Amino acid sequence: MAELQTDVRYIKGIGEQRAKALARLGIRTLRDLIAYFPRAYEDRRTGRDIAQLQDGESAWVEAMVAAAPTRSRIRRGLELVKLRAVDATGALDVTFFNQGYLRDQLRAGESYVFYGKAEVRGRRRAMTNPLVERAGAGLLTGRIVPVYALTAGVGQSLLIKAVEQGLAACRDLLPDPLPDGVRRGHSLCHVGYAYEQIHFPEGEEALSIARRRLVFEELFLLAAGLRQLREHRNAEAAVPFRDTDAAPLLARLPFSLTGAQRRAVGDIARDLASGRVMNRLIEGDVGSGKTMVAAAAIYLAVKNGCQAALMAPTSILAEQHYAGLAPLLEGLRIRCGLLTGALPAAARRALLERLGRGEVDLLIGTHALLSGDVAFPRLGLVVTDEQHRFGVGQRSALSDKGRQGEDAPHLLVMSATPIPRTLALILYGDLDVSVMDELPPGRQHISTYAVSGSYRKRIYAFLDKEIAQGRQAYVVCPMVERDDQMPDERKAATEYAAALQQVLPHRRIALLHGRMKPKEKERVMGDFAAGAFDILVSTTVVEVGMDVPNASVMVVENAERFGLSQLHQLRGRVGRGPHRSYCILISDHDGEESRRRLQVMTRTNNGFEIAEEDLRLRGPGDFFGRRQHGLPALKLADLTCDARLMEEARQAAEAVLAEDPALERPEHREMARRIRQLLEESSGAMN
Ligand code: ADP
Ligand code: MG
Repeated sequence: MAELQTDVRYIKGIGEQRAKALARLGIRTLRDLIAYFPRAYEDRRTGRDIAQLQDGESAWVEAMVAAAPTRSRIRRGLELVKLRAVDATGALDVTFFNQGYLRDQLRAGESYVFYGKAEVRGRRRAMTNPLVERAGAGLLTGRIVPVYALTAGVGQSLLIKAVEQGLAACRDLLPDPLPDGVRRGHSLCHVGYAYEQIHFPEGEEALSIARRRLVFEELFLLAAGLRQLREHRNAEAAVPFRDTDAAPLLARLPFSLTGAQRRAVGDIARDLASGRVMNRLIEGDVGSGKTMVAAAAIYLAVKNGCQAALMAPTSILAEQHYAGLAPLLEGLRIRCGLLTGALPAAARRALLERLGRGEVDLLIGTHALLSGDVAFPRLGLVVTDEQHRFGVGQRSALSDKGRQGEDAPHLLVMSATPIPRTLALILYGDLDVSVMDELPPGRQHISTYAVSGSYRKRIYAFLDKEIAQGRQAYVVCPMVERDDQMPDERKAATEYAAALQQVLPHRRIALLHGRMKPKEKERVMGDFAAGAFDILVSTTVVEVGMDVPNASVMVVENAERFGLSQLHQLRGRVGRGPHRSYCILISDHDGEESRRRLQVMTRTNNGFEIAEEDLRLRGPGDFFGRRQHGLPALKLADLTCDARLMEEARQAAEAVLAEDPALERPEHREMARRIRQLLEESSGAMN
């Protein structure tokens, strides 16, 4: 008898070798196998008599092989197998390329089903490389067929067969993670039916019923998991900070805080004094001044006898934070250190020793902060910048570092991307949120233009003029994609910079790309910030958080390739000083959709508005960059289309948790198990 935990080798035709290949897809047990959902479907239901085949349509015919297939070698690497198949209405000429084995497999006088695209020329009917299966098999043809993501050694038909057997063996054993009341209350189908139909749908309607249930389930478990995490964190006690007056720090700033900044600092001060561990997200638009809010939190932590850590996603950013914060904080006798992967071993050792002796109050760094040898004797606050680049897991890894006995450090997360509210509730369901929707006064509106490449000459002339007035410019260059190759960003950026140098021979052009060593990048960035270059040509590495107030122009080539939120980030690199600033989006893509997207950028500078639009147009996968949100990959849910369902699922999850917070009731056992599994997966999610 099969059980859910039974090894996949239980399935006929799966031996050691294939089991290994399947393991690469995360499939080890029957449960894994049937939870491996298709990435798409192909409708192969249409069957025809040969005579009915229309040119260009995809359909199957059942026909008998009329004579033994022939096999011929046209040239090296090109071998043909040809045959003629017949049914009661006509004949079909079938050609296979490089599938020599079919000559012996397809026998004269036997009937097969051929599925493919029909070619009709006069009375001749043909198919090239059709799918073939024995008549009556009904596995690859005659139905809606799942399309799975594959790996070497695992083909579609192997998976289809395996999943079919897996379902037969254990679809009735599947425990339902949805409590019965929730399932009924939201008119969701049974779990067994959902699994069956998500793989082998009887039709569109059945598929959508199955999908709706599984999406709901996914969002429900995620919402419940994050909610539990938050309850758990919020319940954690912390020594309340006695002194939550940030005025001495603020007095040293050359500006006064905006209302939004003041409110955020107020939220933080209240959290820190509350006796509970802070878990707060600062959701602020680009340029809204999140760094100063972080500085205030750090200042309060150190003032109350704690150490603080500030984690940035790139060494450039860490370096910038250090350069910006250290002078300010050291003036208040806060000792700052910088730890990136680029730090030489000896210097690193010395820094960590000082940290261990408690002689460093603030350590700024990249995820190098997570290394095993980094130990804080009294870590009281963790700040992560540009949070969407870190996983939920990395967040908690860092806060685990600070755990002395029972006490977890306070956590402050700064998000670079304004996030639509619906999404924030799911993505950051484990955090309290302060929204910063206000820019510092006097901020220049950034004039944004979307133009075609024919403007390039004029744009370069404009750059030249701005530089003549002492400004600097960024050019984000296109990634040239070569067929079936990863785009080579080094080459693209290098070539672009060289070409631009030809056009502007008297200007100093620097180059920055993601293949450079962190140290090199930092040097280039530092030099650019110091004014040693006029133009910085880069791939998107410039995107996050850079602050060069003298820069006034951002040119983005192939702008259609970026998400709106990403463009907004890029645009946020300029307009940070007193100078009138410009963002020029170049695109030769003339699709309606992409034009409309770029128009959004010219219309508004409001990051929240752009985020809503971006989410609507692109979906959350792209919105955050692949796998960058740090949440467990959602298998099915599309947070854009499924926004309504998401809200339903969240409410349902909260209702269940209100009744049974620890999910101890027997009817919640499977739900609890799946949540644990989900959160474990996500704690492994690194970028
Ligand atoms: P972001 O929210 O994008 O991280 P930053 O913290 O980098 O923004 O701040 C952007 C710029 O605005 C910095 O140069 C910072 O010094 C400046 N700034 C921050 N707060 C204020 C303020 N209240 N008034 C004027 N300028 C400010
Ligand atoms: Mg920032």
